[in-house]
Amino acid sequence: MPAASWIRPEPHGIYIPPADCWIDPGRPVGCALVTHGHSDHARGGHGRTIATPATLAIMDLRYGVDATDTGGATPVPYGETVALNGGVAATWLPAGHVLGSAQILLERGGERVVVTGDFKRRADPTCPPFVVTPCDVLITEATFGLPVFRHPPIEDEIAKLLAARATNPERCVLVGAYALGKAQRLIAELRRAGYHDPIYLHGAMERMCGLYRDWGVDLGVLLPVAGLPKGALAGQIVVCPPSALNDRWSRRLPDPITAMASGWMRVRQRARQRNVELPLVISDHADWDELTETIREVNPAETWITHGREEALLRWCELNQRKARALAMVGYEDEDD
Ligand SMILES: [Zn+2]
Ligand SMILES: [Zn+2]
Repeated sequence: MPAASWIRPEPHGIYIPPADCWIDPGRPVGCALVTHGHSDHARGGHGRTIATPATLAIMDLRYGVDATDTGGATPVPYGETVALNGGVAATWLPAGHVLGSAQILLERGGERVVVTGDFKRRADPTCPPFVVTPCDVLITEATFGLPVFRHPPIEDEIAKLLAARATNPERCVLVGAYALGKAQRLIAELRRAGYHDPIYLHGAMERMCGLYRDWGVDLGVLLPVAGLPKGALAGQIVVCPPSALNDRWSRRLPDPITAMASGWMRVRQRARQRNVELPLVISDHADWDELTETIREVNPAETWITHGREEALLRWCELNQRKARALAMVGYEDEDD
């Protein structure tokens, strides 16, 4: 029998027929097991949603999950196991990607399958680190699955940001960062680097930063940009969603140095497209070395690749005598690089 024949990859999610459950489905289903709160993985409207308590809080903030779900939401803390139908057990384990993010370990008849969701191996002050979990089938992402993607140490990127601020006291540094995860990690890393001045927020970042604070992540003093005179922001750091970097909103800031925190900033063309003056290569996804190292450490009999740049990773598996297949799943990108 082929490995994990009780799991069926579909274009819009991973289906578990004996349990009649889906992982990160792209459309409303009866029962969804959700890895984390990014909108490409977590959607509202499912009959029942099972996820970590923090992920459910994020989904509630964004979609009002409690209000829309008929069967409600089931919180599962890290390390706890839920018995599903058809003899399937599911356990949520830290993925190190954003607050609440999890890998899902599925077990049935002695067979073990791990779905990583999005993950990274670097330290992140806003969430617990990825847990290496031995299994028969590893279902992994490959967003940055090319050898050209090697993320630099985050300390170097934070130092660049602080240097730009220090040498331009009459300007402000405006950093584009995704509202869930990247923004809070950036702020927490600035604090870790010894920056304790207030950090200013675009209105769209405020609620999620508040949620992180409620979940015990210390982000220091955060203040809204709204209502401040232009001059007050000279020499300050402002965080906004990437979409606000070049829009009318940014004209209220004093000659901003436009920065963006993303793994894609490794690609010059992407930085140019967004008119980014100060590209910061900060990613919440595994880079090439983290992907290959994770496959080595987990050492599964088979590796299935959900989405991203799967060709190079498939080839790497082949060269290393590892059985692998690409699932070519759709719709799992963009919000969270
Ligand atoms: Zn994703
Ligand atoms: Zn994500």
